Amino acid sequence: KVRVGVLALQGDFREHLAVLRELGAEAVPVRRPEELASVAGLVIPGGESTVMDKLSRTFGLREPLVERIREGMPVYGTCAGLIMLADRLLDSIEGQQTLGGLDVTVRRNAFGSQLDSFETDLAVPVLGDAPVHAVFIRAPIVDSVGEGATALGTLDDGRVVAVEQGNLLGTSFHPEVTGDYRFHQYFLDRVGAAE
Ligand code: GLN
Repeated sequence: KVRVGVLALQGDFREHLAVLRELGAEAVPVRRPEELASVAGLVIPGGESTVMDKLSRTFGLREPLVERIREGMPVYGTCAGLIMLADRLLDSIEGQQTLGGLDVTVRRNAFGSQLDSFETDLAVPVLGDAPVHAVFIRAPIVDSVGEGATALGTLDDGRVVAVEQGNLLGTSFHPEVTGDYRFHQYFLDRVGAAE
C-alpha cells in the first residue's frame, strides 16, 4: 500500500482522505513535519489559500513542504491547493506566499462574485475519452502556463484549469466531490511510480 498524506491545516481534507482510502491507499492527515516525512505523496486540498499559507508557517511546515516539492515528491493540489503550488500568483492578499513548483501564473477567485461556483464537463485527454465533471468553487484559473508546465484541461473558452509538471498536478476544481476519482488515481499512479 502506498502511504500518502493530505495537508490538513484547513479546507476539505477529510473528503480527500476518504477518496484516497477508497482507492486503496493508506491516507493520513498531515499537520506536522514528522507526518510529512512519513508520506510518499501529498494532496493539498481546497479551502482558503491565504489561511493555508499562514498556517503552514505557524505549523513549521512551509520549509519542509518546499523542500519535498523540490525533491520531487508527487503532489496534487486542488483549488486552493493549486494556488499553493503556483510559482506566480495574481490577486493575492498582501504578504501571501505560495509553495511554488508549478511554472504557472494562477489568478485567485478568477470567476468573480456572481459566478463563484459552477459545474461543467471538461475534456481531459490524459484521463481517457470520458469527460471529467468539474465543480468550481470560488475557483482560481491558470492565467498562463510557463515552459515547464503542461495544460491537461481547458474550458470551452480556452482557459486552463488543469496542469501538470513532473510530479506536480493541479486542478482549479474539486474532483473529490463528484465520485469521479480519475485525478486521484492519476496522482496515486505517480506516487507508486516514484517509490
Ligand atoms: N478562493 C480560494 C482561495 O483563494 C480557493 C477556493 C477553493 O479552494 N475552493 O484560496
